[in-house]
Amino acid sequence: MINQRNARNPGRVMAYSPLWQKPFRVFTEQNIDQIPQLRRLSEEQLFAMKVVAKVLPFRVNQYVIDELIDWENIPDCPIFQLTFPQKEMLEPEHFEEMASLMSNGASEKILRETAFQFHQQLNHHPADQTTLNVPVLDDIPLPGMQHKYERTVLFFPSQGQTCHSFCTYCFRWPQFVGDHALRFSSRETSHLLAYLKEHREVTDILVTGGDPMVMRTEVLERILEPLLGPQYSHIDSIRIGTKALSFWPYRFWSDKDSDSLLRLFERLTRAGKHVAIMAHFSHWRELETTAVQKAIGKIQGTGAIIRSQAPILNHINADPEVWARMWQMQVRLGIIPYYMFVARDTGSRRHFEIPLARALDIYQKAIKKVSGLARKARGPSMSCGPGKVEVQGVADIKGEKVFILRFLQARNPDWVDQPFFAAYDSQVSWLDDLRPAFGEKRFFFEDEYDAMRDAAEVMID
Ligand SMILES: *Cc1c(COP(=O)(O)O)cnc(C)c1O
Repeated sequence: MINQRNARNPGRVMAYSPLWQKPFRVFTEQNIDQIPQLRRLSEEQLFAMKVVAKVLPFRVNQYVIDELIDWENIPDCPIFQLTFPQKEMLEPEHFEEMASLMSNGASEKILRETAFQFHQQLNHHPADQTTLNVPVLDDIPLPGMQHKYERTVLFFPSQGQTCHSFCTYCFRWPQFVGDHALRFSSRETSHLLAYLKEHREVTDILVTGGDPMVMRTEVLERILEPLLGPQYSHIDSIRIGTKALSFWPYRFWSDKDSDSLLRLFERLTRAGKHVAIMAHFSHWRELETTAVQKAIGKIQGTGAIIRSQAPILNHINADPEVWARMWQMQVRLGIIPYYMFVARDTGSRRHFEIPLARALDIYQKAIKKVSGLARKARGPSMSCGPGKVEVQGVADIKGEKVFILRFLQARNPDWVDQPFFAAYDSQVSWLDDLRPAFGEKRFFFEDEYDAMRDAAEVMID
């Protein structure tokens, strides 16, 4: 139902649907005033939101507003924090500058240019995404794809580079703010297919975004259906990264092309592919509605498996009770907990950031509360340039307090699963700020990683 033209045209009622389903109405910075529930905020609070929404992407739909947010509990409601702009998300000086421009009636053009300047100062593509991971076919770099880990290729279809609602902490925010040079995405399904044909080592394709579930089934079919051909017998798993179960569960049962979507999943699973819906769930609240539970059942009926992952964030889910309850509910619903991430170093991270030591403590407390089936989530894990690094624990080794770390994924598969050690620091929140323990100068992988970066800069500029 959400056709792409409409998805790009905010603020319109996009489709009228059967009686039981909400119209897909979205609100953005331009019509935030029309959200009735916001009338309970003060003028000042509302203005602060508009200031932030001039800089960071804002988009929320009717389902989130009516069914997920607890309006008796704002601003503390985690889903409100997840979707609505908060003053603290901007650097104070950015906030002040934008606020005074807006109060003084600056033109849209000035506001846009100022926002653009702020964007340049934020970290657009962390973890070397734009240089190191771009695959190359016949010497031609293929934007819209990433091949960082041997077995898995990421694909960013250009029609999937938006979402039903935006998360305030999104690390892919440049995709949404209109800075075209900062996007990566691909219209070129043919590039993807050609690349996969040549790369027999790849077993997994991960379609991601944005949210590929904003795309019509037809578009998804064009990407996935060819993978049933014999040339792609090495592709075992098709993963789709999505937050649609949280933000628009109707996608899976009452949109116009919901049925054809489910039939597509079914054809893939019947042909022997593993279809994994990598669902982004931040909080158990998102699992409670009738609409999401129905969607989960529909997906599972096709033979696809739902796995869940989310970052751990201040103001949203930095609490062991929240994770324990979420994982336990997921298990009951047949969803497999997969990753707990540490928030990436980009955008409004300051507001959401928590130190690694605290993330670990929350993870460990949550894990202790749940049964083995709910303990499948690994983490807290940082997606860094060299790989995914999990904080496994804190230990005292020969009188030194250290973090025990390991790669869950790495640019060089040989790095995976070797424990390594960093000096303990209760405040550090990212790998870059950790120092090796025991007086060592560098972590074991750093020389090799530097060499990879040097090589890549020559190959792809
Ligand atoms: C996380 C990630 C993957 C998938 O890793 P798994 O451990 O197999 O889930 C693939 N590519 C990139 C770039 C990633 O960040």
